[in-house]
Amino acid sequence: ERGETPTESIMELVTAEAITLKVPEASPPAVLVKNLYLSCDPYGRFIMSRPEEGIKITSAPPNSPVRGYGVAKVVDSTHPDFKAGDYLWGITFWEEYSLITPTEFNFKINHTDVPLSYYAGLLGMPGLTAYVGFHEISSPKKGELVFVSAASGAVGQLVGQFAKLMGCYVVGSAGSDEKVNLLKNKLGFDNAFNYKKESDLGAALKRYFPEGIDIYFDNVGGAMLDAVLCNMRLGGRVTVCGMISQYNLKALEGVHNLLSIIGNCVRVQGFTVGQYLHLYRDFEEKVVNYVKEGKITYLEDVAEGLEAAPAAFVGLFEGKNIGKKLVVVARE
Ligand code: NDP
Repeated sequence: ERGETPTESIMELVTAEAITLKVPEASPPAVLVKNLYLSCDPYGRFIMSRPEEGIKITSAPPNSPVRGYGVAKVVDSTHPDFKAGDYLWGITFWEEYSLITPTEFNFKINHTDVPLSYYAGLLGMPGLTAYVGFHEISSPKKGELVFVSAASGAVGQLVGQFAKLMGCYVVGSAGSDEKVNLLKNKLGFDNAFNYKKESDLGAALKRYFPEGIDIYFDNVGGAMLDAVLCNMRLGGRVTVCGMISQYNLKALEGVHNLLSIIGNCVRVQGFTVGQYLHLYRDFEEKVVNYVKEGKITYLEDVAEGLEAAPAAFVGLFEGKNIGKKLVVVARE
């Protein structure tokens, strides 16, 4: 329900009847896959809740398998784009085996010489989100001053690294000293701070951005967005990727400084990654090369086994994940 925080008890592990590992003959073109890595994503909260106005995410019916992104191996296929033995990423279900009717959200994996799990994060939906949100929405220029919230997470850690590759100055916020340390010492951010230790977010931002912020990549919304709005430079851009601080509230809160958007001539733009799937193959090639050249580091936080999935998912809303949260169902 709106206003509720997801708990582990909204999911249950069930043992299904034995299935034949074949696409049923009467089925439309489909693939039967063995799920390997499942991605825990904050938007899953909306899949597991009643439909809400303004949220363009289709809820799953009660008692159905959780739907989400993942990496899987094709066991049998009647679909022309996939054959047995292929790996794919995209929409699947939180099950050991799933029957999938491929959509534009399912891609064959072209590179198996990088870790397959990357296709649930870096080379999958969160990676494309970071890439599109930064390069297509934020209009970045070399030397600009960039601030990223939830900066050590699946999307944020990449936004910061894409911005560094463009020659920007980048500061991230995160919810623990361990995450801040990783941002500064492993992920190449110029600076980072623990927002939970700041009594005045506006003052913290002024410390790191005395001249103001050119680009704010917002993953959290709420009080952080409010503080940022008063610290934007003239002509700055706020890219609204997510507002995780608001997802479990009954009504949105925390944003009062909207008038400063006018005075600072700020462009505020939201986006959904689903509108940019046509860029996926270009993105994949570019980022696979970054990985091979050692230009990108990707932090993963892996939970073992389907039984660990509910806690892994719920933990996103408590900041328990350090990097991209994944569940391993099987390694091959
Ligand atoms: P993360 O891997 O960053 O995990 C979520 C993180 O959010 C937590 O680790 C925690 O980090 C932070 N967080 C949780 N609750 C709060 C809170 N109340 N206030 C502030 N921070 C909080 O998730 P993703 O990288 O997968 O997603 C980041 C954002 O991007 C989300 O808002 C998500 O919905 C959005 N998104 C949007 C897409 C789009 O198409 N527009 C696509 C994919 C994601 P910390 O310890 O730092 O607080």
